[in-house]
Amino acid sequence: MNPRHVLAPFREAVVDLGAVRHNVRHLAATVAPARIMAVVKADGYGHGAAAVARAALEGGADWLGVADLDEAIALRGAGIDAPMLAWLHDPAARFAPAVARDIDLGVSSLAQLEAAAEAATIADRPANVHLKLDTGLSRNGIAATDWAPAIERAVELERAGRVRVRGLFSHLANASPAEDAAQLEAFLRGVESAEAAGLAPEVRHLASTAAAIRFPEARLDMVRIGIGLYGVPPYGDGTTAAELGLRPVMTLRGRIAAVRRVEEGTGASYGYTWRASRSTTLALVPLGYADGVPRQASGRGEVAIGGRRHPVVGRIAMDQFLVDVGDEDVAVGDEVVLFGDPGTGAPSADDWGDAADSIAYEIVTRIGPRVPRTHLEPS
Ligand SMILES: *Cc1c(COP(=O)(O)O)cnc(C)c1O
Repeated sequence: MNPRHVLAPFREAVVDLGAVRHNVRHLAATVAPARIMAVVKADGYGHGAAAVARAALEGGADWLGVADLDEAIALRGAGIDAPMLAWLHDPAARFAPAVARDIDLGVSSLAQLEAAAEAATIADRPANVHLKLDTGLSRNGIAATDWAPAIERAVELERAGRVRVRGLFSHLANASPAEDAAQLEAFLRGVESAEAAGLAPEVRHLASTAAAIRFPEARLDMVRIGIGLYGVPPYGDGTTAAELGLRPVMTLRGRIAAVRRVEEGTGASYGYTWRASRSTTLALVPLGYADGVPRQASGRGEVAIGGRRHPVVGRIAMDQFLVDVGDEDVAVGDEVVLFGDPGTGAPSADDWGDAADSIAYEIVTRIGPRVPRTHLEPS
C-alpha cells in the first residue's frame, strides 16, 4: 500500500505545481511571441496564489494578474516581485501603497485615473497604469464615450510624469466568434486613437484562456491566462484538458469515513431523496457543501475509489455525502477522489461543474477553508 494513502489527510486538495509549470510552458509555446500574464486572483482560483504564482513564473509567465489590490499586496508581501496588475478597485481604495510596491493599476474610469495620479504624488513615483477599455462586456472598463477624454487626460498626466500608461486592455464576453471579433476590432480602434494621441503602451492585452487558445488574432502582446494555468478547460463544451495539452492541477480527495451495507428500500441522507433499489453498500465521504461540494450535484456527481467511478446518492450535506459502491469491497480509510486527472479514472472538475449546472471555475474556486491545500513539487 502506498504510504501516502495511509498518512493522507481526511480531506485534502492536492495542488500539483509541476502541472502549473507544464501548463504555462505549453500555453506560452502556443501563444508565442505573445507573453503570458498568469491570473492568480481569488487565491489562485482556490489553489494558493503565491505557490501558483511562483510556479507560473518558473514556467515562463512574465506577468501576474489579480482582481483586488489586496491580493497584489499579499503577493508582494510573499516576496514576489514580478510585474503585476490589479484591475478591480474598491471606490475607497488607496492606490499609493500599491504604487509604492510597483503594482500596476487597471484603470476603468477617469476618477480612477485621477486617483492613480494622486497616488503617484504621495508615493513620489509615477503610477503605472493600464487603461481598461470597455469593448462590449459592459462590466468594468472605460465606457466608449469616455475613451477620448480618458486618453487625453492620460497623455497630460504622462507628460507631467505622474502616470505611465504601460498597458491598454479589455476583456471579451466569449459570446460568439463574431462578437469576440467585433470586440477585438473595437479594442484595436481604441489602441489606435491612444497611440495617435501620443501614448505608447508596452502591452496591449485582450484574451483570457478561451480566446488565447482559439482566437489567435486576439493574442496581441500578452494573454491573461487564468483557468488554463490550473489545467481546467475554459469552454464547458466537453473539450478535455488533455485535448488542450493541459494537465489538471488540483485533486480533491478524502478518505472514506464509514461503510454500511443497506437493504433494498433503505433511505439515505436528508429527505430520503434516494432509496436503495437493491441491497448495496454505501460509503460515506467526509466532504460537503461547506467544503465546496455543490449541494446541487446531489444524486448527480460521481467519485472515484480505487480508480472506479461511483455515484453520489441522496443529498450532499454540509460535511458529508454518500456514494453507492454496489458490491465493491470498500473499506473505511480508503481514498476517495472527487475530481482530479481523468487519466487516472477520476472525474474532472468539469464533470462536477456539469453535475451542479455550473462550470469548473466555480468548482475549483469554492473549495472551502476546512480543506487543507497540499502543494506538490515534482520529485
Ligand atoms: C479572471 C480574468 C481573466 C482570466 O480568465 P480565464 O478565463 O480564467 O483565463 C482574465 N482577465 C480578466 C480581466 C479577468 O477578470
